[in-house]
Amino acid sequence: METKQFKAESKRLLEMMIHSIYTHKEIFLRELISNASDAMDKIYYKALTDETMTFDKEAYKITIEPNKETRQLILRDTGIGMTKEELEENLGTIAKSGSLAFKAENESKDGHDIIGQFGVGFYSAFMVADTVTVVTKPFGSDVAYKWESHGIDGYTIEEVDKETVGTDITLHIKANEEEENYDEYLEPYRLRSIIKKYSDFIRYPIEMEETEQ
Ligand code: ADP
Ligand code: MG
Repeated sequence: METKQFKAESKRLLEMMIHSIYTHKEIFLRELISNASDAMDKIYYKALTDETMTFDKEAYKITIEPNKETRQLILRDTGIGMTKEELEENLGTIAKSGSLAFKAENESKDGHDIIGQFGVGFYSAFMVADTVTVVTKPFGSDVAYKWESHGIDGYTIEEVDKETVGTDITLHIKANEEEENYDEYLEPYRLRSIIKKYSDFIRYPIEMEETEQ
């Protein structure tokens, strides 16, 4: 399988995220939940205006599934999903990366919480994960794709099976380091408190699925 390269600007931002010394790494969850919510807004409004679509309010939710054994944290949404082109476009390039990279860089210089204020989007997942896998099926298509990246070396895209429309993002949480504990991002109670702190206003239910451990 071919490994594709990130655009230069994105690479810079990604590098900053991977080696981040940022103390509020927990905001990655806010960023991913906000993306899931945006994706659900998109399909929600489509469903409201498109008579051919069935409308089931219950179906719009975000599921969070931590697993200490596999060190995986999975976020599932029932949003609009992404086509192969959108995967390339949205996750391979960060449109606003120039300004964001500038902000992220200055964040460490002047001590202001710029990452916290503005967010850095999807790539913030790399502050806590060494591998990020996105499996997505776009609305109106029968084909699903898997995007995967171990970080700076690029990403791969391949066709996979996925039954329902929406996006599943799997983070493989980093191993603990001397100065940094990542296990907390696999703890349901910790995740709940992060959600309460940053994502309380999200208008879709956020459900925690706890595996037997
Ligand atoms: P922003 O949300 O500011 O556009 P992000 O880096 O957070 O920037 O996300 C980049 C893009 O990737 C989004 O604009 C969206 O098009 C796409 N995306 C990210 N997560 C999802 C998701 N869960 N479902 C559908 N599209 C997504
Ligand atoms: Mg976002």
